[in-house]
This record gives sequence, structure tokens and C-alpha cells, in this order.
Amino acid sequence: MDFKKVLMVGLGLCMAFTLIIGDRVMAKEELANEAQAAKAETAPGGIFGLGEENTAYNKYFIGKSYLKPLTSEGVSSSNVTFEPGCRNNWHIHHKGGQILLVTAGRGYYQEEGKPAQELHPGDVVNIPAEVKHWHGAAKDSWFSHIAIAVPAEGATTEWLEPVGDAEYSKLK
Ligand code: MN
Repeated sequence: MDFKKVLMVGLGLCMAFTLIIGDRVMAKEELANEAQAAKAETAPGGIFGLGEENTAYNKYFIGKSYLKPLTSEGVSSSNVTFEPGCRNNWHIHHKGGQILLVTAGRGYYQEEGKPAQELHPGDVVNIPAEVKHWHGAAKDSWFSHIAIAVPAEGATTEWLEPVGDAEYSKLK
């Protein structure tokens, strides 16, 4: 083998080696990104994040809830997270209703006089104005939903009595 051939083979091996190492570094980065995404999906609050403890609404909730505001212009929306066992009191959205987009965990939505509906990520709840209802986590699961306030002139929320323990504890 002459020198030129040896050089060519050597160069070829070098390039192949560089490609293999490069691939492995990329695979490692992809795995790290995937692990980070999976962590965000399973952490309390889910992909939109937990935000801050919602102390301003403590008096209308049983248990701790967290609020991550998402939009404030045009349409107001927030990611709301409930710790296991946490639920809001019965309440009514006057004039404008509310839309819930479930983002993480397991929880419930109930309208007065109807059975509670179990909710999972991907579920959508359209709450009409003037309907008495509550929403919150299952006893053993964190729960998050995006809450969208349906815009309406003079929209308000009327907060009522807590969901009783006897009633709530019947739910799985
Ligand atoms: Mn509501």
C-alpha cells in the first residue's frame, strides 16, 4: 500500500468516527430533552406550569390551588392546578360562562342536580353562564385545567357554599 492509500483510508476512518461520535452526542441531547419534556408533563401543573399558590382565592377553595396566568388581552385564561383533594366551592359565572381545557391529572366537574363528571387530560368542559357548579381534583391526584373566561359585558363570579365532605368523599 502506498502512502497516498494509507492517508485516504485514515481520513475515511476519521470521518466515520466523527459521524458516529456526533450521532451519539445528538442522541444524548435528544434523550435529555425528552426527559425534560416528560418531567414537565408529569410535574404538578403539567406543561403550562404550576405558577404561584392562589392565596387570593383561598376562601373559595378547600385545599391548596395554584394559578399560572396565560393570557390577559382579549380573552383571559389561566392554568389552574388543584392539589389532591382540592376543589373550589359551588359557584356561578354570571353573563359570560367558562371553558375548561384539562391539561394534567384527574379531577371532576359537577353541575347542580347532575352527577359529577370525571375529567382527564384532553377533556373540554363548556360551562354555560348562570349554571351552579364546582371543579377540582380527585382525592388521590393532582389536577390541572386551563380556565378560559368567556368574555361578556359585566361578567362576574358568584361564590357559594363549599362542596360538602360527605358528597365529595363519595367520588373515587
Ligand atoms: Mn367555574
